[in-house]
Amino acid sequence: MSKKILIVEDESDLIKLLKYNLEKEGFRISYATDGSLALAEARRDPPDLVILDLMLPGLDGLEVCRQLRRNDRFAQTPILILSARGEEADRVVGLEVGADDYVTKPFSTREVVARVRALLRRNERAAPQREKVRRGDIVIDPMAHSVSVAGRLIELSALEFRLLHYMASHSGMVFSRDQLLDNVWGNDRTVTPRSVDVYIRRVREKIELKPQEPAYVQTIHGVGYRFASAGDEL
Ligand code: CA
Repeated sequence: MSKKILIVEDESDLIKLLKYNLEKEGFRISYATDGSLALAEARRDPPDLVILDLMLPGLDGLEVCRQLRRNDRFAQTPILILSARGEEADRVVGLEVGADDYVTKPFSTREVVARVRALLRRNERAAPQREKVRRGDIVIDPMAHSVSVAGRLIELSALEFRLLHYMASHSGMVFSRDQLLDNVWGNDRTVTPRSVDVYIRRVREKIELKPQEPAYVQTIHGVGYRFASAGDEL
């Protein structure tokens, strides 16, 4: 389904311009002409992204931004601020109250579309996966941060959990040690590729029936590791 964008703006010409250009790009659009209506509209049909003018009648854009961020449902929704006031102070306050990006009026619609796309892409990458991952006897629940094997809860450290969850979410894909370091350890590069082997061994000892002949976390010789693919008998 196409992504839904909520435009919060009190100038009807700007609403029309943005709506036309974003619909042409395949987005679904709703709009609100003041801050209170914006909050009501966001609750009625939660948007994937909000384009928010700062100067609005009633609740101003900064207050709308604050209130959206206070609500768990919108804590991660990208917010792109529009303002006629190009002052650095406004930009800083906007980002401080939780906006993700900022465009100064007058803007080109091409610029806005590009920013919208970039924010949605970034949000998709960063979105925490909430769905349980089930493979064979294993159930990984990212919300509860728990792992069970054949109904028995397993204790994993935070890193072991991230490693297992990452690999199981991409089952069948082969990862080199460096790729796992980038995707699981991120910026903590005090570890070496060999540390990956240590963590893999620990995870196997906890989840595999026979850690020496792992069914789930498989070694691909000369390449790295993969979590058993959907076609494997588990
Ligand atoms: Ca305005």
